[in-house]
Amino acid sequence: MPDSGLGSWPRRAARIRPTSVALRQGDRSLTYTELAARVDNSAHAMAALGIGRGDRIAYLGHNDIAAFEIFFAAGRLGALFVPLNTRLTAPEISRLLADSAPRLLLHGPEHAPLVSGSDVEFVIPIEQWDPPRIASGAAHLIADIGPDVGLDDPAVLLYTSGTTGTPKAAVLTHGNLTFNTVNQLAHIDVLADDVALCLAPLFHATGLGLVSLPTLFKGGTVVVLPRFDPATVLATIAEARVSAFSGVPTMLQMLCDHPDFARTDLGSLRYVIYGGSSVAERVAAAWQRRGVDILHGYGMTEAAPGVCLATAEGAGARPVSAGVPHFFTDIAVDQPAADGSGELLVRGPNVARGYWRRPAEYSFADGWFRSGDVVRVAEDGWIHVVDRIKDIIISGGENIYPAEVEARVNAVAGVVECAVVGVPDERWGEVGVAYVVRAAPDAVTEAELRAALRGTLAAYKIPRHIRFVDRLARNAAGKIQKHTLRFAPGESK
Ligand code: ATP
Repeated sequence: MPDSGLGSWPRRAARIRPTSVALRQGDRSLTYTELAARVDNSAHAMAALGIGRGDRIAYLGHNDIAAFEIFFAAGRLGALFVPLNTRLTAPEISRLLADSAPRLLLHGPEHAPLVSGSDVEFVIPIEQWDPPRIASGAAHLIADIGPDVGLDDPAVLLYTSGTTGTPKAAVLTHGNLTFNTVNQLAHIDVLADDVALCLAPLFHATGLGLVSLPTLFKGGTVVVLPRFDPATVLATIAEARVSAFSGVPTMLQMLCDHPDFARTDLGSLRYVIYGGSSVAERVAAAWQRRGVDILHGYGMTEAAPGVCLATAEGAGARPVSAGVPHFFTDIAVDQPAADGSGELLVRGPNVARGYWRRPAEYSFADGWFRSGDVVRVAEDGWIHVVDRIKDIIISGGENIYPAEVEARVNAVAGVVECAVVGVPDERWGEVGVAYVVRAAPDAVTEAELRAALRGTLAAYKIPRHIRFVDRLARNAAGKIQKHTLRFAPGESK
């Protein structure tokens, strides 16, 4: 059987565009031919350590050319790449290591303290990963690795972002990531001379799946930024003539709020995809004023990650819609209410078949993945993501969707951002609490905020409690960690 796995991509792309630059980071760059050679070297080295099909190889570090090499090399062997979230604490990392049980753990220099007590067989700092030295004498092993890695083989264990508190890993196959790539290509004109910026972390599906893999499939260049810093991102867009990137709403917001935004040449940008949550209207407007249409997508780790994406033609008329389903991806709405809203079910060759070591997970029943999200599908097929089922507040028998309330609070002058959560209430069952970040302490008072909301929201939707805070806790995907905001009623003010 021919090797159709992700590990064969650099070698295949090198046949078509041997001298094109595949990856660039600072002043380092690798052509497709160089990348293919380095990936084979790394795969040899892993095989020399006795690592093979089905073994896990964890990576704990910032985005780096080396992480791409490790990803492709693991794929070449039929081993699973396990990118770990660099923002986690040592006990959290050790839980993920116990769950994924990797044989090899490669880590960035600053992450050594997080893994010092680990019992992983091979723990190697990434700067000491020296494939030729490790592989010397094991060249015979290459004949046994890689040639029959197929689309159904697992490629990546990707932990969900943990917005709801319990990280679990989706098992993404070579086929899941390949079909996510094909879906993106059907939707967007990715070109061989594109320069994509990889700024979302590789330990989230957005970093790997949304822009990087489609660009590498087409033979374009991926510019790797180790970490997100708005000034560096803006400077890189102008200098490297970046044509595409993907990010989460917080990143788009930080970029358009940065003083350099107005004077940065954004003329090379052809498309920007964002997802994870919806973006504030003012942020979308700020990008549109600079002539950049930001395409709203909806997805999840389990879908590798794309489920729907706005089209460039339709996005302007429907700024809050998350677009239409991807080419090979089917959706259904479970038990729709009178207005057509209900839980979104999704299936397709990009959707994982299950979580790692949780065989009986209810979410994967009947061939469909239950998203846990309420959506409404418009007559023209465009999808509006209403909210997470878990976040819906049921107050006095009425459903309140926090996302709708947050959009209205965010639109009030003086508000920077907010999060609305439900808390138990003796009389109403649950009531809403809004955590609000203001531009300045005197930017807006509670009374002014309530007066503004009375004009746009039904009385029962207006949060019962309003708490002004300096900042909102976010996870590495830029999502507000709502479970940290829910408090017992006695603590409310
Ligand atoms: P966990 O499952 O660990 O709690 P998570 O659900 O945040 O974390 P991800 O796979 O990173 O894990 O995120 C997928 C979820 O993000 C979706 O199920 C949905 O709730 C939300 N989401 C993604 N895109 C959008 C969007 N465009 N608008 C609103 N919500 C979105």
